[in-house]
Amino acid sequence: MKKKQILKQPLQSLTPNLTDYNEAYTSFRWDQVMANLSGLPDGKGLNIAFEAVDRHVKGKGINRIALRFLGRDSTIQEFSYRKLKEETNRFANVLQGLEIGKGDVVCTLTGRIPELYITALGTLKNRSVYCPLFSIYGPEPIYQRLSKGKAKVLVTTKELFEKKVKGLLDQLEDLEYILLTDENTDRDHFIRSLKKLMRIAENEYKILPTDPEDRALLHFTSGTTGMPKGVIHVHQTALTHYVTGKYVLDFHPEDIFWCTADPGWVTGTSYGIISPLLHGITNLVVEAEFDARLWYQTLEDQNVTNWYTAPTAIRRLMRMDIDVLKEYDLSTLRLIHSVGEPLNPEAVRWSWETLGLPILDNWWQTETGGIMIANYPGMLIKPGSMGKPLPGIEAAIVKQANTEELSFVETPGESGQLALKKGWPSMFRGYLGEKQRYKKCFIGDWYLTGDLASKDQDGYFWFVGRADDIIKTAGHMVGPFEVENVLMEHPAVAEAAVIGKPDPMMGELVKAFITLKSKYVPEKELEFEIRGFARERLGSAVAPKEIEFTDELPKTRSGKILRRQLRDQEREKTRN
Ligand code: AMP
Repeated sequence: MKKKQILKQPLQSLTPNLTDYNEAYTSFRWDQVMANLSGLPDGKGLNIAFEAVDRHVKGKGINRIALRFLGRDSTIQEFSYRKLKEETNRFANVLQGLEIGKGDVVCTLTGRIPELYITALGTLKNRSVYCPLFSIYGPEPIYQRLSKGKAKVLVTTKELFEKKVKGLLDQLEDLEYILLTDENTDRDHFIRSLKKLMRIAENEYKILPTDPEDRALLHFTSGTTGMPKGVIHVHQTALTHYVTGKYVLDFHPEDIFWCTADPGWVTGTSYGIISPLLHGITNLVVEAEFDARLWYQTLEDQNVTNWYTAPTAIRRLMRMDIDVLKEYDLSTLRLIHSVGEPLNPEAVRWSWETLGLPILDNWWQTETGGIMIANYPGMLIKPGSMGKPLPGIEAAIVKQANTEELSFVETPGESGQLALKKGWPSMFRGYLGEKQRYKKCFIGDWYLTGDLASKDQDGYFWFVGRADDIIKTAGHMVGPFEVENVLMEHPAVAEAAVIGKPDPMMGELVKAFITLKSKYVPEKELEFEIRGFARERLGSAVAPKEIEFTDELPKTRSGKILRRQLRDQEREKTRN
């Protein structure tokens, strides 16, 4: 095993930014956070990209590495804050040249390559709205998102374009440009070469006045009914990204941060792009997918100090028989954080024993825009708990409420729906085009999260489950309705019900119960065919991993499929 020449400087002795939770919680005020950012010059508002990039391009920060990309082929590409400023300026000029303006939606469909990050930040500079799409999605989810978002620009690669987008073009009426990252020349007026456009664009750009309430980000997340919801966030969301970077992820100036999430998921944008850059630190981006040894080697080689990952990945690491601290030098690693699904207490204990550090779990969702409940460095951890609310966030457990009246759970340990008091900066400002759906999320001053949880006598929150039918598979939300819709398009399928089946590795796996039309026979071959059909349209992350044929689906009297009953049956089977 290759060993380092230079001894690493352990940073474990750093004092956490938050040493006294109670004190920080009681004295916190959102209106004081802005003092840590600069705002656009001449009081022209607040722009996420200016705060994340341009304001660091002075003094010591100018040549500091902002983004370090570790490519699939192990090549390293670095962008200092100065270079990132220039490249994002160029992209903002590209958009301006194409007459893409304020509020227009710009999407990316790429892996974790520099162009994605430059597009995201350049789009924000141009006051357009950035919307990341997961490159593992199949054509159907891509179509849903591009059309619902009325995207005007899509940045993608030649390969993804050919495989997933080309067949949709007739249906995407709002799309004005496709910018191919790896094409050298324009194909026509519509399909352009991003390289060429960037080459001729100026590297100076003046960000126009940006209101903190201007739209900035659009993230799609799945619901139980209907198609994915477009969650809207505004530039002011940067305040939450800053505060959580400081108190939860505990950024210090020399830190090297690695968030393993793809920007196609909200964590990969909020914390894989914005939050570390707001703190002017080095953000590591790894293009390759999960591989236990590659990950440990990356932590060592890149001297990672703060690492943000997810339970599915942790469970996969736990399965490997690797004596980590003997084989790898992780002495710079100070903090490990996890989000996205319940983190089992065994995982926290495993991490203590195997990596020498606990994993700090935190909770949030696309709608909240940033971390809301967390285990903070320096605070007592209760393994299995999501921790305590962020300073500035009021969280409570409410009794299952179907009325306008809200009542709070008084008894510690009793579960109910997790609710957050309205008004934090990264609170979503709407579901795109769905006013009623947005309104229904609130009762009075409280936002209802759709999660069930409890709070103990010491103020720690514990996750119980979802209050609805949404599936969380390998950390990603899958709406059963989206999957059922596609399955129903197969000629043999009469009815379909999709649920999350407990799975030791993925948390839940997508399972479909199907009744067949009368002339079809439930056979293995047909099952494979339907699975392949779904995979092609939905992509492997969303398509069912298991299909069970059944004669009938359980239904309510009014004919609604009782997914809950199927889910309970599966849970029972898994327990036995
Ligand atoms: P998303 O909007 O895709 O980020 O998913 C948000 C949902 O993931 C939450 O509403 C929870 O159901 C789940 N989730 C996120 N973090 C945690 C956590 N630390 N523990 C348990 N569930 C979590």
